[in-house]
Amino acid sequence: MVPTTNRTKIAVIGGGPGGYAAAFYAADIGLDVTLIDPETNPGGVCLYRGCIPSKAYLHVAKVVSEAREASHWGVNFAEPHFDIDKLRAWKDDVVGKLTGGLGQLTKQRGVNYVKGVARFVNSNMLEVKRPNGDTGTLGFEHAIIATGSDPAMIPSLAVDSPNLLDSTTALDLPEIPRSLLVIGGGYIGLELGTVYATLGTKVTVVEMTSGLLPGVDRDLVAVLKKRLDALFENIYLNTTVKGIKPQKNGLKVAMEGEGAPGGEKLFDKVLMSVGRKPRSKEIGLENTQVKVGERGFIAVDTERRTSDPNIFAIGDVAGEPMLAHKASHEGRVAVDVIAGKSAIFEPKAIPAVVFTDPEIAWCGLTQNEAKAKGIEVNIAKFPWGASGRAASLGRAEGLTKLLFEPETDRILGVGIVGSGAGEMIAEGVLAVEMAANAHDISLSIHPHPTLSETFMEAADALFGSATHYYRPKRK
Ligand code: FAD
Repeated sequence: MVPTTNRTKIAVIGGGPGGYAAAFYAADIGLDVTLIDPETNPGGVCLYRGCIPSKAYLHVAKVVSEAREASHWGVNFAEPHFDIDKLRAWKDDVVGKLTGGLGQLTKQRGVNYVKGVARFVNSNMLEVKRPNGDTGTLGFEHAIIATGSDPAMIPSLAVDSPNLLDSTTALDLPEIPRSLLVIGGGYIGLELGTVYATLGTKVTVVEMTSGLLPGVDRDLVAVLKKRLDALFENIYLNTTVKGIKPQKNGLKVAMEGEGAPGGEKLFDKVLMSVGRKPRSKEIGLENTQVKVGERGFIAVDTERRTSDPNIFAIGDVAGEPMLAHKASHEGRVAVDVIAGKSAIFEPKAIPAVVFTDPEIAWCGLTQNEAKAKGIEVNIAKFPWGASGRAASLGRAEGLTKLLFEPETDRILGVGIVGSGAGEMIAEGVLAVEMAANAHDISLSIHPHPTLSETFMEAADALFGSATHYYRPKRK
């Protein structure tokens, strides 16, 4: 039953990594909290349709490509046979275990969980609609909007065809198509493209800008691009899709630009991955003082408070970067503010990871940002060709790159491309947040032989004294 007369101290709308982290933390510090989401258990896009299912498939892709490459070392496996139903069932099992676990944690913490869809009636009241159509109201002292985002579609290309996929339907992996066109060279398209290509699909990526992963450090992208050139059938840059026509046996696509193949090309499936749009419509914001910006993001201050003093917003709906860990952190900030503590959202480093093979990860200031803002930086790089661990893994193509403040040698930003970069970036986050300088890293003994040594040696490289890599001293 939806509470009809109940009041809650905090109503959290949306059970993704922003919403459930906020609700759990609120309960942990003794606040009365209600979490509302249409699913039986919390999880949101991240667990049901995003981070977790994509990483489950990417792990399979990694195992397959490692097995294929083992032939370089004299180990020959037969080509794999894919049981698509079992593969999907495994992904569903991972998702089920994790979301079920969140359901248990919700109960253990005493969070009041309401399965339903919420809408603001005013700045103190929600209307909640249950899946069976029952409707009730819930009064609140404070609300936290954590309604997330949906895949964006280019309206002129949104043809009515089961062969046009978005990230949600692509993760359902209905079959292994012979050919797939990925529209958009962002991280979601490249991750899903990697999965399908490894399973045997001929994958083509079309990107309207001059490079994959727009905005990401070119030194890092160049390393990934080399490998994707071999994995994917085609990568068309500076190219846009002009039209899609449904056919009996797929979709005919017309493209225009530098890489465009002439005429129309037939693909079994087309995956539209051109970004995500915040879910700020249809939640009754017009009945509150909450303001929504041009791109649909809810405007918030550093406390994550909206223009309505009772209402906070966190996660994808509250702005870039649209990442799970950013959402969770914001959730805890908002709860602290509601609890009367002094808290603001002011990270120096929000890590971002592209889980392709190799992975790309970065945090803090990037070279592009430094250039755009006129910030002077010193840069030191350590190529993984000089790393014993990378050599022993057969993955020497990586690069660790550090950006330093010239006067203090303080680390301002970290970029890594290579196998396992996503795990390694956590050290970079700590370094940037703790204001470590090159000496701090250089004097911290890193275990040998590991890829983490490349972080220490990149710091040494600033002084021209990286043991395994000669770089002339800076003048
Ligand atoms: P969401 O996770 O979007 O959750 C919002 C929840 O609110 C949903 O459950 C929704 O049903 C519910 N809701 C919406 N409206 C209402 C309403 N009116 N009433 C009640 N409930 C409502 N991020 C990473 O950090 N790492 C990754 O590796 C990563 N991989 C991704 C891969 C893919 C394919 C996709 C699509 C996304 C990926 N992301 C990744 C992004 C990540 O999923 C989002 O940044 C994250 O889920 C945002 O969390 P959130 O809490 O803001 O909202």
